[in-house]
Amino acid sequence: MKEPFLSAIPLLTRIEAAGYEAYFVGGAVRDFLLGREISDVDIATSATPQEIKEIYPKTIDVGVEHGTIIVLFNGMPYEVTTFRSESEYEDFRRPSEVQFIRSLEEDLQRRDFTMNAIAMNKDGLLIDPFNGKQAIREQMIQTVGKAEERFQEDALRMMRAVRFYSQLGFEMEQSTREALVVFAKLLENISIERKLIEFEKLLTGRYRFKALEILSNTGLYRYLPGMTSYSDELNHLLQFDFTDLTIEEMWVLLIHQFGINDNEVKTFLKNWKLPVKKINKIMQLVKWLDFRLKVDWTDEAIYHAGQQTSLAAERLYMFVHNRKINGNITSLMKRYELLPIKHRSELQVTGNDLQVWFQKKPGPWIKDVIEKVENAVINREISNRKELIREWLIACNQS
Ligand code: ATP
Ligand code: MG
Repeated sequence: MKEPFLSAIPLLTRIEAAGYEAYFVGGAVRDFLLGREISDVDIATSATPQEIKEIYPKTIDVGVEHGTIIVLFNGMPYEVTTFRSESEYEDFRRPSEVQFIRSLEEDLQRRDFTMNAIAMNKDGLLIDPFNGKQAIREQMIQTVGKAEERFQEDALRMMRAVRFYSQLGFEMEQSTREALVVFAKLLENISIERKLIEFEKLLTGRYRFKALEILSNTGLYRYLPGMTSYSDELNHLLQFDFTDLTIEEMWVLLIHQFGINDNEVKTFLKNWKLPVKKINKIMQLVKWLDFRLKVDWTDEAIYHAGQQTSLAAERLYMFVHNRKINGNITSLMKRYELLPIKHRSELQVTGNDLQVWFQKKPGPWIKDVIEKVENAVINREISNRKELIREWLIACNQS
């Protein structure tokens, strides 16, 4: 075994010493078998949350009613979930109630895909009643049990199937794929928050463009916010090369590809319930990509967009034109480095100076004059030196 499992072994040992079972489960075991980078280690146990709390006093309640608590162990958080079965599903959503059980196998049975239904004990022994290892070897996304039943129980699993496709590039097992088409509509019943989590993982996966094509071909896209009319556009995204794009850049690419109007971008993002900060960042990028698609960079534009945004907009620009990322990025970085100032605070003149020089009361005029000076400095019409700025302003005033 290797990290991050090694550090968590004592945690399992202690739960076992108290008379319960405990295993590594889910994505960490799958990614371990795949040789992929392992994100967080999840643990499944026969102990109830209350029983875990008696063993570990340092816990955080995150979903005790669903059997999940976070145990802080050596400063690391571990999600510990009690074995459970999910027998009653309402409205094609996760069950409102779960039943705690003492059997690992039943717990594995309620999991979505066979590759996610493997447990590993502290000695590295695998418990794999649904042949998840074989699915991983064959690179197959396959539901535990009948796809049609599992998707009807919880329709989010359909989104999860496509996001795992995006991350892993596995094949979709045939009956699983067919069920996606038949039951796509059930996605209507799923909250946007849950869809968003899976969709953003899909957007950052290595095989995202093919995955977006699957969203389109299966009809799943129809039940995602603001995407109802964009099937063709989703398919066309495939023409793009694989490139590292951030999640924000991926949103911008979608917005561009869909041809969403400037005044509708915010609504589109709000409908997805993205956080305000992210929406603002994406909208900035949309604005500067639009700029770049019309004209080339000026020093003023580079300054106002800022380093990160101008570089991101340039990358997107080249991406949209299907060009390899090349010298333009380097020359843009150089141009940014050579800007006379990077931020307004570097100007050698303040609002106070202006009041003294012009003997005028403070007001909106100060902001206007500062902006004028700022642009003149960036465009190298004047040097960023107090005395020169004063002379320049007086000359401007006279003419
Ligand atoms: P990631 O590496 O992205 O975290 P993951 O497989 O760990 O992938 P999680 O969303 O963290 O995915 O879920 C942890 C585990 O819980 C899954 O591996 C799966 O066994 C189970 N699971 C999660 N969501 C569902 C669901 N909707 N239906 C059934 N099982 C699920
Ligand atoms: Mg996980």
